[in-house]
Amino acid sequence: MTDVVGLCSMCGRPGAMFTCQLCGRLVCERCFDHRHYICSECEHLKKHSDSPSFPMD
Ligand SMILES: [Zn+2]
Ligand SMILES: [Zn+2]
Repeated sequence: MTDVVGLCSMCGRPGAMFTCQLCGRLVCERCFDHRHYICSECEHLKKHSDSPSFPMD
């Protein structure tokens, strides 16, 4: 098993990490939207705007 484990960029909890397809940050499954493969923060932003463009950090 080579599960990617680290600290979530959103909540700071250790666990399996998923990479957001929009911002590229690593977040845990609790902070990850598996439907869109984006983090909960990007999902939140999408709800306010359907624009695919986000300001690069
Ligand atoms: Zn998290
Ligand atoms: Zn994101």
